[in-house]
Amino acid sequence: MNTNWMKDAACRRIPDLPWTADKGTAPVILGELMADVCRFCPVRDACAAFVADEKIAGGYWAGAHRTSKDTWVQDALPLDGAA
Ligand code: SF4
Repeated sequence: MNTNWMKDAACRRIPDLPWTADKGTAPVILGELMADVCRFCPVRDACAAFVADEKIAGGYWAGAHRTSKDTWVQDALPLDGAA
């Protein structure tokens, strides 16, 4: 899969947030900050497609914690600000 979109990822400019942490292991406020970053990320659609294609099940990607297959279908829904 083409990963050129990653060079424009908004999270690259804010590396100190817990992007690789599993759900429940980082403070809620940091989850809310990551949701805000993803909401305005110019490559969110490509990120969500990558998560689905690669079946990623960990960390925070495209506006959601990735903990199970169930989170992949959330990519078809608009962001509501919930982490
Ligand atoms: S949508 Fe979020 S996790 Fe995906 S590239 Fe953008 S900022 Fe990073």
